[in-house]
Amino acid sequence: MSVLPRRFNKIKKVLDSRMQNLSVLVEAVNKPHNLSAILRTCDAAGVFEANFISNKQNVKTYNSTAQGSQKWLKLKNHQDSKSAVNSLKEKGFKLFGTTLNKNSIDYRELDYSDSTCFVLGAEKWGLSEELISQVDECIFIPMNGMVQSLNVSVAASVLLFEAVRQRYHQGLIPLKGEGLEKNLYKKTLFEWCYPELINHYKSSALSYPELKENGEICKSDFNKD
Ligand code: SAM
Repeated sequence: MSVLPRRFNKIKKVLDSRMQNLSVLVEAVNKPHNLSAILRTCDAAGVFEANFISNKQNVKTYNSTAQGSQKWLKLKNHQDSKSAVNSLKEKGFKLFGTTLNKNSIDYRELDYSDSTCFVLGAEKWGLSEELISQVDECIFIPMNGMVQSLNVSVAASVLLFEAVRQRYHQGLIPLKGEGLEKNLYKKTLFEWCYPELINHYKSSALSYPELKENGEICKSDFNKD
């Protein structure tokens, strides 16, 4: 069994430009079509991992809206805002809370080339005061219409693609996998190419085999402990 060359090249191209240092933290957004649209945007922008605060085990999405993008993103669920913020700060992320309050800065005035996580709030209530008090900076997207705010997935798109635009102009979009730690890159490449083998390796506590240049599994590694 081997991944087809065309599929392998596509998978590799996408993974080569994934960024561990660009993410979102989504608080209490519970409409599946909004979550799906956010994930689809994350995939398109090159996000590696998207974060959620939800007491549900699985993030519910709609495949028709997500177009399968949820398969190509790591989803990290946090129990509460404190643990989410601690975990992201430990990883070196700067947190940008999105809210239309009087201390917010126009999003166009800030730099997102270092580790950046956009923190997005619920459809009806926006970000909680608790989370607002823990972010590094509050930002807003100026609104010129009759309606006060954007749909949360639209706001995510505007912000993620502003980060991508800035990074593009600074030559910071990865092209050869440099946006991911080496081991994470190798592990993810195997899992994306051979999802049906993940359980086998996990349940038998075996490490994943090496892949050849064309994506085939190295035979010598196939039965190795
Ligand atoms: N009434 C809510 C409020 O006061 O925040 C509106 C919530 S809005 C529909 C849902 C989420 O989308 C917000 O929490 C924020 O994350 C994001 N959002 C929408 N419009 C935005 C804007 N103009 N600037 C920044 N974030 C925005």
